[in-house]
Amino acid sequence: MSLCDCEQTPRSCYSPGVVEDDEVLLRVIIAPRDINKDGFLAPTAIQTKDLLTRGWSLVRRGHSTLQETDNFASELAKGQSVHGVGVISAEQVRVVLDPTGQRVFCVYDDALKALKAHASALHECEQNEKALKKARAAIIPFRDVLLSAIQPVHTIEEAYAAARQSK
Ligand SMILES: [Zn+2]
Repeated sequence: MSLCDCEQTPRSCYSPGVVEDDEVLLRVIIAPRDINKDGFLAPTAIQTKDLLTRGWSLVRRGHSTLQETDNFASELAKGQSVHGVGVISAEQVRVVLDPTGQRVFCVYDDALKALKAHASALHECEQNEKALKKARAAIIPFRDVLLSAIQPVHTIEEAYAAARQSK
């Protein structure tokens, strides 16, 4: 995939580097927050607000140990429980195109002090109320592409076992 400017240089001194297309990214799923009554992921498991402003939070599996990911997930769960992780590659996020052929989401390293392997996916748009309102409606179908891609949800252990097998 051709990279956006924001994807081409590491963002912080904590970062292990730019996110490569073939990197596996994990999305922590929290229950009951992200799960609907049928046991499937609720659309709200991916907030359009995150995709538009803060960035949709992901863990770079190749740069985070099982223990680090587990700790990060427990931290996020705050009193709820860690249901598991959705698994997606950077490329799967980057290949989402709008009808005009433009990429919808960027994926870039977004290291946190607590988790160097943190990444974010973002739909870049102007951060003003009018632009955000328009974008919020426009990106729903693309949000749903991501929602399907991260299912089925795996346990963190399964996600790491799959990594060992693919080596
Ligand atoms: Zn970008």
